[in-house]
Amino acid sequence: MNKQITTYALHNYRTIPQIASLNEEMLKEIEVVGRVLPFKTNNYVVDELIDWSDVENDPIFTLNFPRRGMLEKKHYAAIEKLLDEGADKATMDAKVQQIRMALNPNPAGQEHNVPYLGEIKLKGIQHKYPETVLFFPSQGQTCHAYCTFCFRWPQFSGMSELKFAMKEADLLLTYLRLHHEVTDILFTGGDPMVMNTSTLAAYIRPLLHPDFAHVHSIRIGTKSLAYWPYRYLTDKDSDELISLFEEIIKAGKNLSIQAHFNHPRELSTDAVKQAISRIKGTGAQIRTQSPLLKHINDKPEIWSEMWRKQVDLGCIPYYMFIARDTGAKHYFELPLDRCWQIFRRAYRKVSGLCRTVRGPSMSDHAGKIQVLGVQEIRGEKIFVLRFIQGRNPKWVDVPFFAEYNPKATWFNQLRPAFGEERFFFEESRKRLEITKPFLFE
Ligand code: SF4
Repeated sequence: MNKQITTYALHNYRTIPQIASLNEEMLKEIEVVGRVLPFKTNNYVVDELIDWSDVENDPIFTLNFPRRGMLEKKHYAAIEKLLDEGADKATMDAKVQQIRMALNPNPAGQEHNVPYLGEIKLKGIQHKYPETVLFFPSQGQTCHAYCTFCFRWPQFSGMSELKFAMKEADLLLTYLRLHHEVTDILFTGGDPMVMNTSTLAAYIRPLLHPDFAHVHSIRIGTKSLAYWPYRYLTDKDSDELISLFEEIIKAGKNLSIQAHFNHPRELSTDAVKQAISRIKGTGAQIRTQSPLLKHINDKPEIWSEMWRKQVDLGCIPYYMFIARDTGAKHYFELPLDRCWQIFRRAYRKVSGLCRTVRGPSMSDHAGKIQVLGVQEIRGEKIFVLRFIQGRNPKWVDVPFFAEYNPKATWFNQLRPAFGEERFFFEESRKRLEITKPFLFE
């Protein structure tokens, strides 16, 4: 039987039956914050994931619904005032835009990763690491629900100039024909799994041709297992989707579903368990990842439970990220020291099978930087760091050191340790920025 998705946003969320249990203050918060940050949820999240008996503290409610603290006080007050005054649309839009621009809508220099084909800028591609290309199919630039912490939030806010998307699969294929160093392609979004199967197949099938033998792995980054597992079970083209996955495997490619799970509750329903089992039956692997988020998963027990459940279901724990410096970061962020403490306390409670996970990691412009720990060397307290992934592969796995800063929540707040003027990779990074490493003439 088909289970139909019903989505809710600012215009219709009051039709959710459970909304009647919210007090006036919470409703006001949704109205105010939902003007600035994207808001979307659906009937699966509402009916099967949120605990409505304790919404004040419920992590899944916080994951989808706007909360007061997600905006800075002055921004909240400005929108609240305009709403109370009944401001016209143009006035409200102008203020909303001004606030959004103050929220660092394009973090970590993503624009530097957009490659060229001759003079054509390939806006739907990011090529940050030699072996991996990220592709943003234009039909996949939305999600079954929106996470309040999302670092891709500008895409959902109509800030189209920041949208990394393209329709032209042909350009992607031309680019890949010229770049035999690319072994992995990651379909990302938004969420590529909002696309129907025939659209997804139109992008993927050409990659199964022998011309693309150098592309070994197809990855799909998705939150659909957590937000709409029925995508793999009862949607009208679910069976075709499963067949497409089987076709990819039969063609000799690795298929890895990069599944976003932020809380163990997302792994608890019958629907998600069946969906995971169905995907795994095709031969695909499921790797899991999530940022570490205050108010949602900022306890070691939550992570150890999540990793254990994932392994029990046959998934591979992959990444713990640090919340990116954009949008409502101030609401979700934790000091790097705390992130490391949560990681290690969770990590030591689980068996080796869960210890495939890496983190806590910052997806910085230079690469993925892991906080390995805090140490004291010759009287100086320092962070020990390393690149898990680097714009220059030579940087990977080289330990380096930063002065300990108890308040730092992101790499750009750290200074090199031991009186050094710059980190070891900074000169090389500048050169990479200037020369556009993936420019193809
Ligand atoms: S699923 Fe991913 S892209 Fe979509 S809102 Fe959540 S974090 Fe953002």
